[in-house]
Amino acid sequence: MNTGADSLFSKIARGEIPCARVLETDRALAFLDINPVNPGHVLLIPKEPYATVADLPDDLAAHLGSLLPRLCRAVKAVTGADGLNVIANNGPVAGQTIFHVHWHIIPRFQDDAVHWPWPHSPYAEGALQAMQARIAEAAATS
Ligand code: AMP
Repeated sequence: MNTGADSLFSKIARGEIPCARVLETDRALAFLDINPVNPGHVLLIPKEPYATVADLPDDLAAHLGSLLPRLCRAVKAVTGADGLNVIANNGPVAGQTIFHVHWHIIPRFQDDAVHWPWPHSPYAEGALQAMQARIAEAAATS
């Protein structure tokens, strides 16, 4: 199972499966993605087995977030990337395949083969304000 303490990334965090580690703290681990979008693609995980960003305690999320700038600087410096995508897929429908939360730090190059951006479309009249009110209320109470 790719979830909970049995997930591949939990086993990597415990040292039961090897990884190409690039940064480690008492609560987090960053290592090379074994099948990178571009060379230098790094994954950042918490050592504890939370499935998605929404499941993380705030203090652990803050710790993970505090490591992102340093990892971005390192990946950019080493790969010479023109830019980076920093993303976390949450849930199968969003492309998550390993249900132990992780951020992808993906070096990007002019004219690389990655298809971006995603499609965008504007809100219908009044829908933006309605959505704003609903998410603002949910964010204030969750
Ligand atoms: P996601 O699809 O967002 O869940 O991302 C999972 C990522 O884990 C993919 O980019 C895989 O290439 C990567 N991956 C799978 N197995 C390993 C492994 N053993 N070591 C490092 N990265 C891995």
